[in-house]
Amino acid sequence: MKAIAVRPGQPNSVHQREIAKPSLDKYPNGNGVLVKVLKVGVDATDREINEALYGNSPPGDDYLVLGHECFGIVEAVGNKVTAVKPGDYVTATVRRPGGSIYDMIGTYDMTSEETYYERGINLLHGYLTEYFVESQDYIVKVPKGLKHLHVLMEPMSCAAKAIHQAYEAQRRMRVWRPKRAFVLGAGQIGLLSTLVLKLRGLEVYTLARAAGPHLKSEIVSGLEATYVATSQTSLQDLAEKVGKADLIVDATGSSKIAFEAMQVLGHNGVLVWTSITGGKAETTVPSDKLNIEWVLGNKLLVGSVNANSEHFEAGIKDLALGEMMYPNVLQKILTNPVNGLDQYKEMMRLLIEDNSALKVYVNVAGE
Ligand code: BGC
Ligand code: ZN
Repeated sequence: MKAIAVRPGQPNSVHQREIAKPSLDKYPNGNGVLVKVLKVGVDATDREINEALYGNSPPGDDYLVLGHECFGIVEAVGNKVTAVKPGDYVTATVRRPGGSIYDMIGTYDMTSEETYYERGINLLHGYLTEYFVESQDYIVKVPKGLKHLHVLMEPMSCAAKAIHQAYEAQRRMRVWRPKRAFVLGAGQIGLLSTLVLKLRGLEVYTLARAAGPHLKSEIVSGLEATYVATSQTSLQDLAEKVGKADLIVDATGSSKIAFEAMQVLGHNGVLVWTSITGGKAETTVPSDKLNIEWVLGNKLLVGSVNANSEHFEAGIKDLALGEMMYPNVLQKILTNPVNGLDQYKEMMRLLIEDNSALKVYVNVAGE
């Protein structure tokens, strides 16, 4: 069957190749699920892997099949599978357990080991192919009514985890009633974080560079949040105008902005970093000022990566509620379909060149 792969370490090596079609025999314990891939989303991580900034092949292979945001339909299941059945729509988690205690209890997204295993990213092949087989432990059912949001399940799981982590960490406050949130970046993670925070009742300001109206500002307004163009109102100006934030999510992909965010967090607040910055950028920060403000304000910084099946499930519930509260808004994120794996060059071109592409995804097959 066809697969889209890269040779990690070699820039611009994206290519199509033939790989063997997997079968349920891979799981002799009867836990296997054979999924026919319908759609796969790609993001900045795939772009950085193709730029050889990130990612590794599975041991013994000199290529890595890309793709970590999948949507498919179950074709067959092993005799021990209870969670899904043929014909169900599904997605799959990305990370697989290592050996730490966190891995053993299903929280592999919190592994304490330096080496992590992620399908389509690090040491495991991904989903940009026609079929995959996976243990039912890592398969998550997608409700039929959310089929039109297909490849958003994985990015949504990361947004759901990031915000859940912030709330978990803030239990240190005993009572924490966040009112105002800043979401930095209006890419998929920024927009989905905006949704999660709105559903939690916060006043949300979502920031991106360009002045609207444009699709991003339209989606932010559709979610009843406030879009702020940093080309017109800087983060500092916003904080002076509306007050500092109780919760900030950085999803800009810029480490510079991640540090800038430290200056606009309120007392007892929490800042969550989610950007994966594979580059080597360096930036200067007002360290004395930040240090004293953070100490005197009991502020907290949390890094958040990946998501386990519970976050996928929580994210899917929020997508469902989001469709009820803000009908037909979320599907606007799905801007750029590419038809067929054969079009992988176009997929990569959109990812690299088209700044207006909010979400590039491949229609791998019909049902
Ligand atoms: C993926 C996550 C992954 C992270 C780091 C992101 O693009 O969506 O699942 O953990 O990259 O590799
Ligand atoms: Zn991703």
